[in-house]
Amino acid sequence: MSDLAETILGRIRDVPDYPKPGVVFKDITPLLGDHGAFAAVVDALADGLEVDKVVGIEARGFILAAPVAYTAGAGFVPIRKKGKLPAAAHAASYDLEYGSAVIEVHRDAFAPGDRVLIVDDVLATGGTARAAVELVGRAGAEVVAVSVLMELAFLKGRERLSGVDVRALVVV
Ligand code: AMP
Repeated sequence: MSDLAETILGRIRDVPDYPKPGVVFKDITPLLGDHGAFAAVVDALADGLEVDKVVGIEARGFILAAPVAYTAGAGFVPIRKKGKLPAAAHAASYDLEYGSAVIEVHRDAFAPGDRVLIVDDVLATGGTARAAVELVGRAGAEVVAVSVLMELAFLKGRERLSGVDVRALVVV
């Protein structure tokens, strides 16, 4: 296992039965609280990146995507839960591992043809990332890749993202 993978796995806390019975929540707060680990993750997510915008998915995606955008010399775009963005937005609905939801992006968030990286903390069933890819496309930009800190392979999220370059720093 790589040093980075060990660093990440050692700082993500499994919280059983949160937010509901049967779900093992991957809590990234121990990793975020460790400067060296957080910096290593941001550098790895930004490594070799040539994009115009980095999209963060509310809420934990914001924490990772903003420093990745800064490091990569790109702009940051939030994808937010329904009703949180102030200006005209595109909306997409999706199913979660626990529940369902709608996410939105501002219609004018991208210049035509912008190259975009989408960032989130965990890839589970892939529903959220799939909806994010759809939103970026509807807003006129091109998704270069979806990058996550951790992929939960047993939930097969990757299969819902065929045709998308999916990158994960660790796969469990
Ligand atoms: P999914 O749409 O099923 O791929 O779920 C991914 C989204 O839900 C991400 O925004 C994650 O933050 C969150 N999520 C789903 N499952 C988990 C989990 N087991 N631990 C932490 N976050 C999760």
